[in-house]
Amino acid sequence: MSRVSPLAERLAQVKDRIAAAALKAGRKAGDITLVAVTKTAAPEQVREIIGLGVGDLAESRVQVLTQKVAQANEFYERKLKGGEPGLPPRLRWHMIGHLQRNKVKAVLPLVDCVHSLDSLRLAEEIEAFGGKTDRKIPVFLQLNASEEKSKFGVAVGAALHLAEQIDSMSHLALLGLMTIAPLTSDMAEARFVFARTREIFEELQWHHIGGPGFRHLSMGMSNDFEEAIAEGATMVRIGSALFGAKSSDQLEEETE
Ligand SMILES: *Cc1c(COP(=O)(O)O)cnc(C)c1O
Repeated sequence: MSRVSPLAERLAQVKDRIAAAALKAGRKAGDITLVAVTKTAAPEQVREIIGLGVGDLAESRVQVLTQKVAQANEFYERKLKGGEPGLPPRLRWHMIGHLQRNKVKAVLPLVDCVHSLDSLRLAEEIEAFGGKTDRKIPVFLQLNASEEKSKFGVAVGAALHLAEQIDSMSHLALLGLMTIAPLTSDMAEARFVFARTREIFEELQWHHIGGPGFRHLSMGMSNDFEEAIAEGATMVRIGSALFGAKSSDQLEEETE
């Protein structure tokens, strides 16, 4: 038997935990997409995880997106041409970090969807880009379900109105809600935030927002994805459990 790499091992563990959490919640593991967050990943780790069949990749920082996407896409196309087995059927890049309006033109050509839409003005900017490029751009409304002042995301009380406005835009496809739980070891607190997000999601569905495509909950990270799955997450965004802990420059950047 060939030796399994540390990344392959961690990927297998994460997949097992996703499957176990799904089973516990009476859900199918196949309904949950693992999105690999490449924030802390070295370029060779990104290539390796693609080779292991993971096709959904996410980045939160605009500055590194161009190079990361170009390198990953080049690797993927080359391996695909070479007939490498085990590749994902396609690569999809998810923008998960805060997006400033003046970065829309630079970021949107590189990514397939945006998880961090949280204002009307940003929605209008993406809508205009979609119009110019004749694209319908899949987006998630980011909800500040924990109502921490420091967090991005639309306030719970403003979510319905903003979702209606997004839904009326012809170049945006609203796929669902995204949320980030507070950084805490208290899993009950994380679970509460995910439950709250699911409630808002159901309320929006009740209002016929988004139509049949509105069916995703992007929630759960390395520390709390099992709680998120228990509350209905369909996409879990996992970085450090796959690629290892944060480097110091990334920590600095986050506290800026
Ligand atoms: C960094 C990040 C993640 C992944 O976090 P981990 O704890 O490393 O799994 C998920 N979502 C967003 C928005 C992030 O910025």
